Amino acid sequence: MKAEPAQQIRLLDLQEIDSRLAQLTHRIRTLPELTEIRRLDARLTELRDRLAVAATELSDLDREQRKAESDVDQVRARSERDTKRLDAGRVSSHKELEGLQSEIASLRRRQAELEEIVLEVMERREATEARGADLDKEIAAAEADREAAEERRSSAVLDIQADQATESDRRARVSADVPADLLALYTKLRDQYDGVGAAALRYGRCEGCKLALSTAELARLRGAPADEVLRCEDCRRILIRTDESGL
Ligand SMILES: [Zn+2]
Repeated sequence: MKAEPAQQIRLLDLQEIDSRLAQLTHRIRTLPELTEIRRLDARLTELRDRLAVAATELSDLDREQRKAESDVDQVRARSERDTKRLDAGRVSSHKELEGLQSEIASLRRRQAELEEIVLEVMERREATEARGADLDKEIAAAEADREAAEERRSSAVLDIQADQATESDRRARVSADVPADLLALYTKLRDQYDGVGAAALRYGRCEGCKLALSTAELARLRGAPADEVLRCEDCRRILIRTDESGL
């Protein structure tokens, strides 16, 4: 393949722009804010799960409290009924009187026990409520952090996109200077070899694969016409001669 030396040199500019564009794409994909957003999403999922558990516990405790309070009411009502009967003086049999008094005493003990249960459930309920309030605060803080990270990410992406637009404009101008067949070869090699299709020959070394060319190869290149498109004998990339090639 043939191309004017000046056109070949333009390929190095194009390679620099393409490498820069690849870097910019990589930066968008690997912004630290993305890692932060993923971390915060995982944290929010965990906090919301814990909040759901607390809400379920709270509704269970509500039910438990209502049940215990209704048990207290029942025992109290029965105890009051017994006390009224006793106070009315209508119980004459000694045995029945003793039975009634013993039942009242036992109902009072039972009532005290049940009231103890109500208090205990109320305490657990308060603790669960406090835990839920703490989780609400933690969720709000994580949401605010996520929003801030999302804003930083968007602004970083906008900056990078502005750079991408600048580089794309430059690319259009530079690629217009490169003949179509050379551009097609460069594009094919760039796709094939990790984004680098053309490299400078610098002091006898290929800048693409970083290997020094053999003495025989350098001698061959020295004799090659200036408009011949050269390829690296090792990596097969397009090799561009410059003032620093050492030929
Ligand atoms: Zn090479």
